[in-house]
Amino acid sequence: MNEISNHMPTSELQRLDAAHHLHPFTAHGPLSEKGVRVITGAEGTWLRDSEGRRILDGMAGLWCVNIGYGRAELAEAAYRQMKELPYYNTFFQTTHVPAIALATRIAELAPGDLNHVFFASSGSEANDTNLRLVRHYWARKGQPERQVIIARKNAYHGSSMGSASLGGMAAMHAQGGLPIPGIHHIDQPDWWGEGGEMTPEEFGRARARQLEEAIREIGPDKVGAFIAEPVQGAGGVIIPPESYWPEIMRIVQEYGILLIADEVICGFGRTGEWFGAQSYGITPDIMTIAKGLSSGYQPIGGSIVSDEIAATIAGDEFFHGYTYSGHPVACAVALENLRLLDEEGIVTRVRESTAPYLAEKWATLADHPLVGEAATRGLLGTMALTPDKARRAKFAADPGTVGLICREHCFAVDLVMRHVGDRMVISPPLVITEAEIDELVTRARRALDATL
Ligand code: PLP
Repeated sequence: MNEISNHMPTSELQRLDAAHHLHPFTAHGPLSEKGVRVITGAEGTWLRDSEGRRILDGMAGLWCVNIGYGRAELAEAAYRQMKELPYYNTFFQTTHVPAIALATRIAELAPGDLNHVFFASSGSEANDTNLRLVRHYWARKGQPERQVIIARKNAYHGSSMGSASLGGMAAMHAQGGLPIPGIHHIDQPDWWGEGGEMTPEEFGRARARQLEEAIREIGPDKVGAFIAEPVQGAGGVIIPPESYWPEIMRIVQEYGILLIADEVICGFGRTGEWFGAQSYGITPDIMTIAKGLSSGYQPIGGSIVSDEIAATIAGDEFFHGYTYSGHPVACAVALENLRLLDEEGIVTRVRESTAPYLAEKWATLADHPLVGEAATRGLLGTMALTPDKARRAKFAADPGTVGLICREHCFAVDLVMRHVGDRMVISPPLVITEAEIDELVTRARRALDATL
């Protein structure tokens, strides 16, 4: 009989966790020595832990709980759907109402002619779909040699072999023999970290032109697609200079290569529009979605593709799919999440009030001696930390100062932020209030002060 529950002493839960649970992206030795934090519940923007502490969640879980915690409507949608039809596949000539309804709603929300959805259970799976889909598409167009996909260094597109290869994280590539063949990485548009003497606008254009150089080097007839996040999230919330995306658009159009916007973080209101592509005037051929699609209440992701791609691949079977593609419960929950985001005006509120408010308050952190750059886009925030602002110097690598601030000092003030390299980032639930933004910024400053 399994008695493990929230009522157990924290130390016993920690012991069992250390004994049996392998955590993602974690060094288990140090974690078990320190003792993992046990999260027991959540409401709105606040988490509770097993010690009874209330923690301000500056990360919406893992960039995903857009609607906030504790929405009974989503639980009820899951319950209703589980009773009605807990599972059926969408392979082999069958479908069901939740998948039809969700695909239809996504097509309404997505920009341009992105009208067709291939479902997966996560962003990683969706990007694996994209990898195969792009190559299949070009084969169907009679150009099977268009195999190469250009991506960016320091991007995150997932953890599977395909999606981690599309990603540009050196530490991930170093484990497990990545990247797989046919993927080429160009530099990211991180002006603070890499811009040197250039203005942001010059730098944005220069970084975009690396795409053109790469296409010419590889051969325009060999490149199938370029994939990028509108704002690079897990890489440290790298907000591109305004000149970056228009130049990228010019290049993909000139060379006729597909553009995949990975909207796993930027999608569903994070940037103040339904999709990051709309914030930047990008017209992708494919968008990757996950996370905010269900606000993390159910695992679901997908690839939204254009009319032209859907028509091109319609003729023969695409040998690809997941048992849980279009899972009815996940679809029902996602649909309810989209209804609430829309009917409660949450995306509009981000655009018109919370994002401008966060931008103003977050910018005040730039006067802190450790902060080089403090910037936001929608409800994404980033701080580049530095021991010397004038030289834009870097701290020692992880686990250095920035890791310490996040792991110890944010912890001490009951605030969840993440650190990536020399940056600290936030991505709170979209329902965060102005008072909670004040609290978040105050706590972030206290965590920084504790480091001095
Ligand atoms: N793409 C982006 C931009 C992401 O941020 C993530 C996850 O953080 C993924 C893809 C992978 O999604 P998942 O963790 O659901 O597989």
